Amino acid sequence: MLTSQSQDAWTLFLDCIEERCSAVEFANWIAPIQKIATHPDRIVLEVPNIFVQEYLLDNYKQDLALFLPLNPSGEPSIEFVIAEVRKEKSEASPQEKPAAPTENMIKDSFQLNDLYSFENFIEGPSNQFVKSAAMGVALRPGKSYNPLFIHGGVGLGKTHLLHAIGRYIKQHHPKMRIHCITTEGFINELINNLRDKTLDKMKRFYRTLDVLLVDDIQFLQNRMNFEEEFCNTFEALIHQNKQIIITSDKPPGQLNLSERLTARMEWGLVANVGIPDLETRVAILQYKAEQKGIRLPQKIAFFIAEHIYNNVRQLEGAINRLSAYCKMLGLDITEETVEKSLSELFQLAPSKKVSVENILKSVSMIFEVKVSDLKSTSRSKDVAFPRQVAMYLAKELINESLMKLSAAFGGKTHSTLLHAWKKISGQVAQDDMLRRQIDMAKRNLEA
Ligand code: ADP
Ligand code: MG
Repeated sequence: MLTSQSQDAWTLFLDCIEERCSAVEFANWIAPIQKIATHPDRIVLEVPNIFVQEYLLDNYKQDLALFLPLNPSGEPSIEFVIAEVRKEKSEASPQEKPAAPTENMIKDSFQLNDLYSFENFIEGPSNQFVKSAAMGVALRPGKSYNPLFIHGGVGLGKTHLLHAIGRYIKQHHPKMRIHCITTEGFINELINNLRDKTLDKMKRFYRTLDVLLVDDIQFLQNRMNFEEEFCNTFEALIHQNKQIIITSDKPPGQLNLSERLTARMEWGLVANVGIPDLETRVAILQYKAEQKGIRLPQKIAFFIAEHIYNNVRQLEGAINRLSAYCKMLGLDITEETVEKSLSELFQLAPSKKVSVENILKSVSMIFEVKVSDLKSTSRSKDVAFPRQVAMYLAKELINESLMKLSAAFGGKTHSTLLHAWKKISGQVAQDDMLRRQIDMAKRNLEA
């Protein structure tokens, strides 16, 4: 705990975590929490339901402990109040009915994050290409690359670029109809409109757009019914030269989506956001520090950038945390304060290297087959299935080309590996037993 007197510990906590989680996560889980009161020994929070309370404690207990008063057992001392369930308004007052879906959708279209602009996006060798592709699309929507498909790991700036494109187009082409949506949001809209029998209205809305920005398309995997509707929307727009921009954690060919949709997504330009190199990470840290009004000595910036190396969101989280820590305790930013406040983030960075050999060993134990059989050409089901699981794990856990990975399986082709991965990805979503076996294999690998 940093202090118990500060009446604004909750706001500082929010500042600290806001940029560590995604905008959607923050909006869904954190923003609905209201601080009701702050006492010297506890804070009172109102949550809309028990799930939000559990989410907060499951994910942020350690951070809360840093900011809030602690109880005798060393845990953050929080009194939760569940917000009174508001009775649904009766049908007798039609003027208070929820807005029609179309109006909601249009309003949502403009929920672009103002902080995500091209000017705020720090460039380096890992993201120069994708940034210029994004700017190209923003300058001439529907006339350069269409669709633009941006892929890369977590926290590397995909959503940032997506919103930057949306913002730029909104400013420079104010007449254009822009809609920015997460894939989950799209699926929810579909479900609601199917339920309310207003699917036609939704289709009409989507088909009159000039620019459609879709975040995190990977969530469309294994959602067959929704995939088809998305694909139809996609085709309708692209045939009219309307601009589509999509983000994803993997390139189209590695997503478990239909060939039809995969091919469509590869029509335009596929661009990767990579992990920033050390100099870019330092530049990002210094930019973020400057924005918060903190002076971050060069040496310290390098120190942090050397320890947090694969995710820009974590770099931001580090700055927020460091700044909150130093402000509350009135300390200067030194290597010592950095170590004290960030050691936990530093521990997250290194990860154990997983090899195909380790995966084969782990899978062979769980499925009780020999490693040599897994590497053989045997097609017996007892061997072929665990082999596919091992291939799935290799592709999920090892950052190597399919070519290299498949060679490590005794010279299988990369399409065999991709087929195995697609098949198992589909089954994991439906088969609890398989999911548990895979989790077990992963835990073995970490041990
Ligand atoms: P992703 O969608 O790839 O998971 P985000 O776009 O949400 O990642 O980025 C995570 C955070 O990191 C955001 O707050 C974003 O502004 C910031 N960020 C990512 N890349 C950069 C960059 N090159 N320059 C400045 N900020 C960045
Ligand atoms: Mg994102």
